[in-house]
Order: sequence, then structure tokens, then C-alpha cells
Amino acid sequence: MEKSFLEKRKADIRYNLDVINEKIAESAIKSGRNPSDIQLMAVTKTVDPIFINYALDYGVNMIGENRVQEMLRKKPDLHLYNVQKHLIGHLQTNKAGQIVGEVDMIQSVDSLKIAKEIAKQSAKKGITTDVLLEINIGDEESKTGFSKSEFMENLYQIAEIPELKVKGLMTIPPICENNTILCEFFENIYNIYVDIKAKKLDNINMNILSMGMSGDYEQAIICGSNLVRIGSSIFGPRIY
Ligand SMILES: *Cc1c(COP(=O)(O)O)cnc(C)c1O
Repeated sequence: MEKSFLEKRKADIRYNLDVINEKIAESAIKSGRNPSDIQLMAVTKTVDPIFINYALDYGVNMIGENRVQEMLRKKPDLHLYNVQKHLIGHLQTNKAGQIVGEVDMIQSVDSLKIAKEIAKQSAKKGITTDVLLEINIGDEESKTGFSKSEFMENLYQIAEIPELKVKGLMTIPPICENNTILCEFFENIYNIYVDIKAKKLDNINMNILSMGMSGDYEQAIICGSNLVRIGSSIFGPRIY
């Protein structure tokens, strides 16, 4: 790749991160919190390690990938010192063995079946795995995640699994016509998060509420998110 092209990409990524960090701070303050309470994850799917490293070298300390293979392939080329790596895409049971122990957190636990498989693979490696439980807050056919109605009974069962450490919730809301409707979804899951936190269940921590992407992260923070997952607003449109 041409040097001038690389320099431009680097400058763009840094500029985008500056803008995003500023908007995160403003939204945090609007919701009565400290900017430092909100974590920024750079979503790196389809992004070349060269560009991911520009973000990491500029202070990004958390990355997310959707696919097991892509995460494992890129990992050796990344500047990962003090950087958290999370899986954020749907995990198939037959891939769980490959990813357990390779990431700091699996945010996309969307069924009891995959929870049990992650636990089984963790036990094999003698480790515990930090997870978030993904809720399909809009009950959409096209999306993975626990439906609201089945969520609590699954939560109680997952709480019994010693190899899993539940750290919070993750969601992707439906595409909404306006911010009022969007906020209802975000507030809906925020309420579930707060309710579970108040129950103080053994083995269940509610410290992370992962919601908000390029198009809606400011709104998500205002509605209670403390971890936003941002891809295209940092790296530009994805090229598949
Ligand atoms: C791709 C992806 C993101 C980031 O999406 P952008 O709109 O590019 O910010 C966030 N979360 C998940 C689960 C994703 O798959």
C-alpha cells in the first residue's frame, strides 16, 4: 500500500477517535456520569490489522470481533499489550473450543446451550470465562439473543454454572424510526440490568451494559450504556 494512503488512513482513524471520545464524554455528562465510566470498544471485523494497530497505538484498549476464525487469524499481528479482546458475534457450539481462553470476554452468549458449551470448554482448560448475556430486546426473528420472556429462567440456570462469570448484558436494538422508540428499547434493557443487579445473585455481576454502535451510541449512553461497540465510525465503511 502506498505510504500517503496509509498516512491518510491513520490521520482519519485518529480524528474519528477524537470525535467519538468527545461525543462519549458529552453523552456521559448528560446522563450524570463520568466520561471515564464509559468504555469504548473498537469493532474490527473486516478491518486489516495495519489499521487496527493505528487505533490501538492511539489508545484504544478494547477490540471486538464477530467471528472466531477472523479473531484468531488477526491476533498475532495486533499490538495487544493491555488490550481486551472480546467476541461479539454469534458463537456456534462447534467453535467454542477454539475461542475459549483466546479472548477476555464473550459478549454474545445467546442461549443456554452455548453457555453450557463454553463452560465445558472452559473446564477442559481449567479456566473460567467472562461473559455477557445477549438479549434480543426487540424480539426480532432475524436476531440472536435471549427473548425477554425466556431470559430470567435462563439466567438462574446460568448462575449455577461455575465456569462462567456473568458480567452484564449486551444488546442490539431494532432499527428505529426515531430516538423516542430507540430509547424505549435501551431503557427496557437498562431496567432489566438494574433489576438483576438489585437481586445480588450468586455468580452474577451486572457491571457492564454493552449497547450502542456507530449510529446510536450517544443515545445508548444517555439511556445507561457503559460500553459502546463502534466499528464504521472509527474505520470507515466495511468492505466485505
Ligand atoms: C459490527 C458490529 C458492531 C459495530 O457496528 P458499527 O455500526 O460499524 O459501529 C457492534 N456490535 C456488533 C455486535 C457488531 O456485529
